[in-house]
Amino acid sequence: MNKIGITTTVPIEILLAAGYQPVDLNNVFIADPNPERLINIAERAGFPLNCCSWIKGIYGACLEHKIDTILCVTTGDCSNTVMLMEVLKLKGIKTIPFAYPDRPDRQKMQDALESLAKTLNTTLDAAGQVKEELKPCRRLALKLDELTWKQGVASGLENHLWLVSSSDFNQDYHNYQKELKELVEKCLKRPSYPPDWLRIAYIGVPSVYGQDLYKYLETKGARVVFNEIQRQFAMPHPGNSLAEQYSNYTYPYSIYDRLKDITAELNKRRVDGVIHYVQAFCYRGIGDIIFRNKLKLPILTLEGNDEFSLTHHLKTRVEAFLDMLHRSRRRTKIA
Ligand code: SF4
Repeated sequence: MNKIGITTTVPIEILLAAGYQPVDLNNVFIADPNPERLINIAERAGFPLNCCSWIKGIYGACLEHKIDTILCVTTGDCSNTVMLMEVLKLKGIKTIPFAYPDRPDRQKMQDALESLAKTLNTTLDAAGQVKEELKPCRRLALKLDELTWKQGVASGLENHLWLVSSSDFNQDYHNYQKELKELVEKCLKRPSYPPDWLRIAYIGVPSVYGQDLYKYLETKGARVVFNEIQRQFAMPHPGNSLAEQYSNYTYPYSIYDRLKDITAELNKRRVDGVIHYVQAFCYRGIGDIIFRNKLKLPILTLEGNDEFSLTHHLKTRVEAFLDMLHRSRRRTKIA
């Protein structure tokens, strides 16, 4: 299969039906043993210092892994991708634009999907068959999610890793299914986390800290029970058609659509506090104003740029936040 780079979660059913193997360049970037190297490639090419690290990392990963075709989401993800696409064109890389509708409208989504299928010389019927083939992978990802918040036998990090990689199923959905099935079986034999551990929600784009944040939380008696966007990548509401599935996917749309999903999950998962991650130089950071206004739980906002682990300063902030949540839990118990 020819590889096709993707810059965010896209309707991969269509890409697979067209005979492409999707490669999520975000995952390639962040999983690289030396992600700074990929950022340096972009900066040497002229990307400004005040450009988001994910965009620079995607560019570096695309060149480094010699991806010659890339599907760029022009509406519903990030305005920087539009200019990234132009620069990639300059480098001789074939770029295919895909625009999510401006709102989650089933008919508009159907039109967008049909147009993408036509561009890639496939059909929505063929993509619908791939949707069926991917069902076991998506079900397992959502099962792992349930094992995280409901049974407490999967860690926040495992949850993050497997859900975030459902954007391209680690480039091999058969293997993804096999390995995730094994993990789910392993989790079912584990004891659950202690009930007095704090329950944390992680909202916002995946962080550049890699595994560090999740591991650090666990050293302080707290664990992530909700990874908002990662869960969306796994398509928690697949519906009966691709148009329905991608209209129910909240990430490309208004923050208020995301809020409905977040609020319902915070209640259901009995969350104590929220960590909102924002990426430096990302327009989505402004949404912090809305989350702080609308969410009724304590929120810690963390901003990351190109530090690929938790600095001492960040650890101190996280620790102070957890202390406050622990104290508030104790107060509630006494009352
Ligand atoms: S973090 Fe923000 S600026 Fe960076 S790629 Fe994602 S949406 Fe764009």
